[in-house]
Amino acid sequence: MPYKIECIILYSFYLHPIAAKMRHTNSPTTTTYQHQHQHTLKWNPHAIERKSERDIALDPATVSIEYISTLPYYTNNNCYHYCDTINNVTYYVRDILNENGCMVKTVVTIIKRNPIQMARRICEINGWKFESICRDNLFGNCMRGSGCRYIHKDI
Ligand SMILES: [Zn+2]
Repeated sequence: MPYKIECIILYSFYLHPIAAKMRHTNSPTTTTYQHQHQHTLKWNPHAIERKSERDIALDPATVSIEYISTLPYYTNNNCYHYCDTINNVTYYVRDILNENGCMVKTVVTIIKRNPIQMARRICEINGWKFESICRDNLFGNCMRGSGCRYIHKDI
């Protein structure tokens, strides 16, 4: 397959998680994709620099496009902010044209978020009232059980 066509297919495949799922079931072109290796995200030098400056111990090679597409996100000025609640970081990802004319999902920076900041963001994304959510439960240690007056949500 000529690389440009392949790029377009991969790009549109990743464009939107729901679109990707639909394509996955409908399109024969994505069936072959399943057998390929996981696609790691591209990181620009600025993002790598910030990662070490901010003491974020995370191997960029372990962060795949498949993984971030499962994360809650919000957008700001065409930049996707993917919230990783496991690593407590937010990836700032943009679609950037590479030298071959392909759109490539690129991490442009990364920030560390403490668990409470992260929980606030997740609540915003899901339209939950942060004040009404049980924070103990978010971190897996609410002892009040069904007697708890806050709402138990999993993120
Ligand atoms: Zn609770």
